Amino acid sequence: MSISQQSQGGERIPPSEEFCDSLIIKASKSRASEVHLDFYESKFYIRFRVDGILELAGEYPFEIYDTTIRKLKVLGQLNIAEVRLPQHGRGQLRDPATNTMIEFRVSTFPTTPGEAAVIHLINKQETVFENFESIGMSPDEAELMKDAIHKPYGMILVVGPAGSGKTATLYTALNQVRSIQKNVITLEDPVEFKLQFVRHAQIMPSVGFTFAEGMKAVLRQDPDVVFIGEILDHEIAEIAVRAALSGRLVFSSISTNDSMGTITRFLELGIPRSFLASTLLLTVSSRFLRKNCLQCVAPYVPADRFLKEAGLASADGIKFLKGGGCANCEQSGYLGRVPIFEFFPVDKEIAGLIVEGASVLELLQAAHVKGMKTMREAAVERAMAGETTLEEAIYSTA
Ligand SMILES: [Zn+2]
Repeated sequence: MSISQQSQGGERIPPSEEFCDSLIIKASKSRASEVHLDFYESKFYIRFRVDGILELAGEYPFEIYDTTIRKLKVLGQLNIAEVRLPQHGRGQLRDPATNTMIEFRVSTFPTTPGEAAVIHLINKQETVFENFESIGMSPDEAELMKDAIHKPYGMILVVGPAGSGKTATLYTALNQVRSIQKNVITLEDPVEFKLQFVRHAQIMPSVGFTFAEGMKAVLRQDPDVVFIGEILDHEIAEIAVRAALSGRLVFSSISTNDSMGTITRFLELGIPRSFLASTLLLTVSSRFLRKNCLQCVAPYVPADRFLKEAGLASADGIKFLKGGGCANCEQSGYLGRVPIFEFFPVDKEIAGLIVEGASVLELLQAAHVKGMKTMREAAVERAMAGETTLEEAIYSTA
């Protein structure tokens, strides 16, 4: 059956069997990172996540929903007959207009009325990972990264919520250390990109190949550099620390909001302070801030409470900018994103403080004296430079 009709917005809908392809191509052109497909009553909703914000991209007749999900499952190499269990897979599609391949991951989720799906588009530009500057670090920040990744052993942790740029930082680090002289092994879930001279392994808990089991096997593979997708529990934390203590360079991520949270998290996971102090080289956290739209940007004075949160007595002498909204930015005032980073390098003195039982506040103060810039400070700097609003800087680093 071929359906060609109008959506709510008056846009012509391609025949249902082509709808899925055209949707993915449209999402890729719209710079979307994710596409959400779900339905409610007789409507089929599509939302795109652009610059971190989920927005409605179209409302379509319910009739094309089934065909779209089925086509998506075929593209993602999923079982089309399975509708009761969540599934995830990977697919690619050629955009005939540009003759480029669009790569994506698909995951389906059984909701009460039927299956919902999320398409995660893999941004080809991000696959370059050429150097730390190319992912938005300043030359000084890139130096901190380079110092850490060229140490012979230790642990480098990247922290932050989902969608905060952890993958880009970790892959750039991997890309910089990989060489024919080094045995680099990864344990990932999912494997997002493939690099030469790196042994990428996909974790499969369903067959018992967990992060913890995988780590034990990796350590028998004579590794120089180990990349563990995420430190989830005590067992993984302990193996990671032991690997670093035994002379390996370990890269990983951990779910905390900021660099300092890493220390607390490791202690909660039962890692002794002395082990942490002798292995941790650097923690990096990152966030994206929405950038002011250059077409509609104008000076403004932020409300007192935002100035106060930013540690500013007044806006005197600072030219804060904010977009008023225009067609270019779909009335949001923002267009594109800029990454900000927070680095917490562990030197001898900081390591000593960790062993002595210093609180997070004491560690932060010591790091501050050494020139550490917090995420909040980095964000406020961007606002003071007019790249984003002060509100965005405060809310993104709450
Ligand atoms: Zn605008």
